Amino acid sequence: MDISYIINEFAEDREQYFNAVAPPIMQSSNFIFKTVDEMRKAFADEYATYLYSRGKNPTVEILRRKLAALDAAEDCLVFNSGAAAIFAGVFANVKAGDHIVSVDKPYAWAQKLFNNILPRFGITTTYVDGRYIENFERAILPNTAVIYLESPNSWDYALQDLKAVADLAKAEGIITICDNSYCTPIYQQPIGFGIDLVLQSATKYIGGHSDTIAGVLCGSHHMIKKIFNSEYMTVGSGIQPFNAWLLIRGLRTLPLRLEHITRSTYKIVDFLKHHARVEEVIFPFDEDFPQFELARQQMKNACGLLTFVIKADNMDAIERFCENLHHIFMAVSWGGHESLIIPKCAGMEAASFDVNNREHRMLRLYCGLEETSYLVNDLEQAFNKM
Ligand SMILES: *Cc1c(COP(=O)(O)O)cnc(C)c1O
Repeated sequence: MDISYIINEFAEDREQYFNAVAPPIMQSSNFIFKTVDEMRKAFADEYATYLYSRGKNPTVEILRRKLAALDAAEDCLVFNSGAAAIFAGVFANVKAGDHIVSVDKPYAWAQKLFNNILPRFGITTTYVDGRYIENFERAILPNTAVIYLESPNSWDYALQDLKAVADLAKAEGIITICDNSYCTPIYQQPIGFGIDLVLQSATKYIGGHSDTIAGVLCGSHHMIKKIFNSEYMTVGSGIQPFNAWLLIRGLRTLPLRLEHITRSTYKIVDFLKHHARVEEVIFPFDEDFPQFELARQQMKNACGLLTFVIKADNMDAIERFCENLHHIFMAVSWGGHESLIIPKCAGMEAASFDVNNREHRMLRLYCGLEETSYLVNDLEQAFNKM
């Protein structure tokens, strides 16, 4: 299916709603039946019917089908957050006493699930440096049920060889789950490499306007239906119709936004790499990135997020840099219209800052939709105030 077709037409039955171009927000909690038999059928298989909007909803349905198609997946569920998608995808595939192999430093709330919640059920997690397939081979135990991936990681962009990990997991009967938030399905399709479940925070590029929290989980029809009938319905973590509508609207411009952001990010990487105040730039599609070849093999492109190590004699200089940015906002998240920055030192006690530790001098920059020159000028004037 063409991406343009998926985004503009697929799953939209406009004759059902007055040939309106934009779909309606079906803000209804429940749906009416005319016969007892219809109602009985709906109770028997809620996945096939509109019964109650904690389950299926027509606006959400349009979004689900489009997102599944973008990921080249059979099926999809859309959650009220990326974290909820992570929870459902993992929880549905483990039982008491199981073991998980996860990449190092996955998204913070995935890590909290592995470290704080799952141990209550005797489920343990081994973290591995996912850049080397041998580390997965070594970490697998007889009770390993899930391998959890995030490629690239959203701070240091470490990749995993998705096909190699999927092949290994399949041979051992282990479920693979991959967080694809960095790339979106436009730049990477993990299902095509044999990954079982792929998730993304739709808060980021899919929404694209910093006004919605949502998450996507894609996989086989069998696996997704099973999750719908257990975690999705039980936790009640599905997306609301209005938020689904915002994401459908976000999808209309997704490829265009990524195209601009990619072009801009490359220019900013180049600007930073040649700047006297910058020690190093970390970006997966930079030719100096250690896994550049793998990135080119399994990703169509990269954009938006990059990390740079600033040359500073102390933490004050880094703080002055951040606080003097006029147009690049200091805030979490990314994928919206606005450029953002997070200094690593904001996540640590001031007293533990060590200027000789290059990680402590890292800043993560998200390049948004502004003109590139506007961002470069902002960075330059802030460097000058350090
Ligand atoms: C933001 C993010 C999430 C979580 O998504 P929410 O929508 O914030 O719940 C998961 N993984 C990555 C890589 C993220 O950046």
